[in-house]
Amino acid sequence: MDKPLVVITGASSGIGAAAARALSGEGYPLLLTARRVDRLRELELPNCLCRQNDVADIEGFRQAVADAEAEYGPVDLLINNAGAMTLEQFRNQVPEDWKKLFDTNVVGLLNTTSVVFPGMLARKGGTILNIGSTSGYTHYPNHTVYGGTKHAIRGMTEGLRREAAPRGVRVMMISPGMVDTELLGGTRNQAIIDEYQSFKDYLGGGVAPDEVAKAILFAYQQRQEVAIWDMIIAPTGQRT
Ligand code: NDP
Repeated sequence: MDKPLVVITGASSGIGAAAARALSGEGYPLLLTARRVDRLRELELPNCLCRQNDVADIEGFRQAVADAEAEYGPVDLLINNAGAMTLEQFRNQVPEDWKKLFDTNVVGLLNTTSVVFPGMLARKGGTILNIGSTSGYTHYPNHTVYGGTKHAIRGMTEGLRREAAPRGVRVMMISPGMVDTELLGGTRNQAIIDEYQSFKDYLGGGVAPDEVAKAILFAYQQRQEVAIWDMIIAPTGQRT
């Protein structure tokens, strides 16, 4: 195998699945994780280990990485893509929702990063690529908690980047605006779903996941000495 191992969390749909197809197309061996392992297998990618993992389960993720590294060598790229979104007015949101959002989007990212980060620092190489969001830059209606997780990711990416930079390890972020995926499926409030959907329709459906995957490839395939700190990718018609 002449290309190094790439790990993608939340690869069972949307941006993660598109990134898996794009990186596989470039010849990278993959470890793909998500809760819906059947959807990972349906991608039918070569040199690809598919593991069921909730990012809250750090030991399960550690074992999956150990198994993949035994087959394909050290992880060179971790894409922290797994994410959940439940949109709601905060006054109507229940504690289970905000715990799940932070456990997945924030604690999950810390879990998976902590498994590969020490090895990258020791090898003085590698890349962590976090999927942020424009909601980590601004505030949208009903996004108090979800947007809070993305602000947290943006802050942590910057901290990790500064910690990793002296060792030659890249920590980068890609912050999408509206992308056409299954992400809205986590929201139960029909009025909020309708509002979001009509904004999506107004934007012509959002950026395609394959376009975000192209941005991921572009960032990763720079020389190790070049780090793209953050890239915002959104439909041209999206103003904020
Ligand atoms: P999807 O819903 O299509 O994909 C989300 C992925 O995350 C799925 O593969 C899902 O897999 C996985 N996931 C969710 N919860 C967990 C968990 N607890 N453990 C492991 N995997 C989990 O949406 P997107 O592709 O849009 O989302 C990908 C990323 O992009 C997210 O971080 C999202 O916040 C971000 N993003 C999306 C935007 C958009 O407009 N769509 C805009 C900005 C950012 P499974 O259910 O099988 O576990």
